[in-house]
Amino acid sequence: MLTLITNVELYSPAEMGEVDVLITDRRIAAIGSNLKEKLSVSEDLMDVVNGQGKLMFPGLVDSLVHISGGGGEGGFHTRTPQMNLTDATTGGVTTVIGALGTDATTRTLPDLLAKAQALEVEGISSYCYTGSYQLPARTLLSNVTDDIILVDKIIGVGEVAIADHRSSQPSVAEIQRVASEARVGGMIAGKAGIVSIHVGDSETLLDTLQKATEQSDLPVTQFYPTHINRNVALLDAGIKWAMQGGYIDFTSSTNQKFIEEGEVPAAKALADSLDAGVPVSRLTMSSDGNASLPVFDDDGELIGLEVGRVQSLYEAFQSAVLEYGVSIVDAISSVTLNPSKVLKLKHKGRIEVGADADFVLAEKATLDIEQVYAKGRCMVRNGSPVVKGTFEQ
Ligand code: ZN
Repeated sequence: MLTLITNVELYSPAEMGEVDVLITDRRIAAIGSNLKEKLSVSEDLMDVVNGQGKLMFPGLVDSLVHISGGGGEGGFHTRTPQMNLTDATTGGVTTVIGALGTDATTRTLPDLLAKAQALEVEGISSYCYTGSYQLPARTLLSNVTDDIILVDKIIGVGEVAIADHRSSQPSVAEIQRVASEARVGGMIAGKAGIVSIHVGDSETLLDTLQKATEQSDLPVTQFYPTHINRNVALLDAGIKWAMQGGYIDFTSSTNQKFIEEGEVPAAKALADSLDAGVPVSRLTMSSDGNASLPVFDDDGELIGLEVGRVQSLYEAFQSAVLEYGVSIVDAISSVTLNPSKVLKLKHKGRIEVGADADFVLAEKATLDIEQVYAKGRCMVRNGSPVVKGTFEQ
């Protein structure tokens, strides 16, 4: 089956003007003008989508989702549910990177990998991190290096927690060790071998990463710290880290209480970082979907629990453009091309000939989602899911 999107305003994420885009099977086959006239194919064999007045850009790459569920920090009944297929697709997300979190006892890597495989069957693309919050890392095989080299879907380790009361309080040496294991695994397998870092709200901020890189040969790009918009002090430390060449990631899942307590909305953090002079290529946003959003009182006792939403990533992209004045190119890049480059997913996060046909068609003024395609298949039409997960109603 061929799909032809005509006269659409394309952001690849670079601004490409009004073009036609041809999709054959799962890939972008051609980009140009008047493609219908140039193709000697009957229209019966082609699905033609009128793209007039719409924007087209890559499907979002969400670098941190607890796809098999997370949480549990308030007892067994507070374990969060799995992500459903349409949680991703209705938010324009066509690639997810699954991770464990605080709990690597009742949550396991085999379960995470099985969920990642299920999402592939259901229609989107998925990858995983080995490990969890704690070090030494829980692994599938004997160590992090082996997991990255030998398990297709595993592209790095994480989210390893620092500066958090729920972390294993890792030493600089432990962080260096896990990073070197991931780095070698990535080199041999041709993968990112990235270390996803969960940064908590302790005053030590990014000190552990600063020391780990200053006191070793590890480059700052070995680490991918997230939740950098947790508070203003961490955002300032993150901007400094990014000015040294590091990547920083902002979390879109939040709630009113977190914002009242000083969390910076992801879209605002993106705008502030750009204003501070950080090159956009070092900035990304992710949803932290299906994480628990625990609320602790002053004594550290858990008093409430909510669940992160994958759709919040798209809302953060919209907010960055519509509320905080970030350019469409920069805002799209932060949720597509940039994470795909950090994670070395070379067919993802971009619209170019040969790339996977993962894309969003959005209404120009509001940026509201009209259609979402994943691997060449229409998953969302007129804003509603047309493909559902196995057990979704
Ligand atoms: Zn986290």
